[in-house]
Amino acid sequence: MRELRGIPVSPGVAIGSAFVVEDQKRRIPKRAIAPADAPAELARLDSALRASIAELTAVRAQTKAELGDEAAKIFSFHIGMLADKSLTLPMRHAVENDLVTAEYAVFATLQALADRFAAFGEGAFKTKVDDVNDLAQRVLKHLVGESVSRLANIKQPAVVLSRDLTPSQAASFNREHVLGFVTEAGGRTGHTGIFARALGIPAVVACKQATELATPGTPVIIDGESGAVILDPDLATLARYRKIRERDRLFRLKLDDLRELPCQTLDAVPIDLQGNIEFPEEVAQVLAAGGTGVGLYRTEYLYLAQDKEPTEEDHYQAYARCVGLLGGRPLTIRTMDLGADKYTQERADNPERNPMLGCRSIRYCLQNPGLFKRQLRAILRASALGAVRVMFPLVTTPEEFRRARFVLNEVIEDLRDEGVAVDANIKVGMMVEVPSAAICAEMFANQADFFSIGTNDLVQYTLAVDRTNEQVAGMYNPANPAVVALVRNTVRAASAGNIPVSCCGESAGELEYVMLLLGLGLRSLSASAPALPAVKRLVRSVTIEQCEQVVEKASRLDSDAAVSSYLRDATRKIIPEAFDGRSAE
Ligand code: PEP
Ligand code: MG
Repeated sequence: MRELRGIPVSPGVAIGSAFVVEDQKRRIPKRAIAPADAPAELARLDSALRASIAELTAVRAQTKAELGDEAAKIFSFHIGMLADKSLTLPMRHAVENDLVTAEYAVFATLQALADRFAAFGEGAFKTKVDDVNDLAQRVLKHLVGESVSRLANIKQPAVVLSRDLTPSQAASFNREHVLGFVTEAGGRTGHTGIFARALGIPAVVACKQATELATPGTPVIIDGESGAVILDPDLATLARYRKIRERDRLFRLKLDDLRELPCQTLDAVPIDLQGNIEFPEEVAQVLAAGGTGVGLYRTEYLYLAQDKEPTEEDHYQAYARCVGLLGGRPLTIRTMDLGADKYTQERADNPERNPMLGCRSIRYCLQNPGLFKRQLRAILRASALGAVRVMFPLVTTPEEFRRARFVLNEVIEDLRDEGVAVDANIKVGMMVEVPSAAICAEMFANQADFFSIGTNDLVQYTLAVDRTNEQVAGMYNPANPAVVALVRNTVRAASAGNIPVSCCGESAGELEYVMLLLGLGLRSLSASAPALPAVKRLVRSVTIEQCEQVVEKASRLDSDAAVSSYLRDATRKIIPEAFDGRSAE
């Protein structure tokens, strides 16, 4: 038995045999062909490309049905690449002139492209390298047969272990057979976790050596709550985790009963609990989990799932869909948080040296007013359909907020001139996720209609810890006193300025931080759908006074580790079923 540790990104326990996805790069030896064989070899190449496009078209349709338009657009990008002459001509050229096999022509051409992306550095072009490798696997399958390690080959229930996971791999999972997954790369807030949560399967990322140490078929347990990955468990461990899994199941079943009950503390203080979404299809999950609206719609996923900028109509359709599904409940649309490693770097002529501190988010939007206005037009048009609020991410200075609001007002005027219906009184809020905004929250409270605290970035920027870097993941802590002080100040400023404040960072959905957030004065939380029922259960089991005492005690501890373990213990006392059997037994 061997126990590894990673970062838990999607809760639940999975027990099954390991399906190890080998490194995506499959080496194809360079083999020469006779000149007379070139036409036949070209025909093989064309037919493999056609078959791959047909296959991708089918996968796109299936993904669209299961995960919606945005997720499916990843495959449009792949199809576009295979239809692109600048990629297929070098392949044909290699066969005709260099007289190599079709498979080598495909391998060498796509390898060269992947190398070009990789040369730009690990972070920014990483997903492009994965996309190209993914594509190479697909075409090669039609030329030399299936690689045994392809995900599509999973024919029975298995736990997938892989070095990394591309968005297209994650979207093409067969949910029936994939019990959970583990990756060696990644951080708390990458694509992998977001997809796993949307699919509702347990996942652990940043688990070093997972693919090296596991052999295919090895029994494996993953605990999406603690981050434990156990290879070849002994009988006692297996029995323990089976018990945990069963308790988890019963715990979740019991949580279903809470759905219609109010989310309020024992002393009858109402707590507003909403959901975070990336795709409109997730609205149904939020409502099924008892969420009362969408507190954060991460609209950059409209961009990330395709390789061209969405049109105003693409935006509008997505927002109108959410409004329709929400049936009058509130929808908070965050303008796109592009940049850092998302989208802009991949397309930039000059990738930034330090993208986390670069032209991301609202900064990127203000520098690209055409793109920004297209999105704002769609948001405003959707505001005429229901309870829509708009929110700007990564606001760092009051001028920045004013500038963004100014652009919004311009768009309102334009639409009115055009006779288009809008909610001219739409509430305009901001994420508080940069220390400058939290420190000067009072200044911002005079301008913004509401705050939403983004602890994911607030922790990153306060503690100088890259939130996606597994090497410093141990330092990433929402309960660090500096972060707590900033949250406290933001809540205080919102209350003084009489504006609503909520928290939509991952910590709002992590049980151990919920009492801390309530004790700091938050009365509104937004988290991913699967997290909502347990949060509600905890809220209904505590008083505000108890939460304030937790804050008080935590503030007297002098290390992050002590605070974390105290918060965990305090939560466990209230709601032991949620932790049952893990570190306690
Ligand atoms: C945050 O930073 O806490 C947040 C909710 O935004 P994102 O995770 O999309 O950066
Ligand atoms: Mg953020």
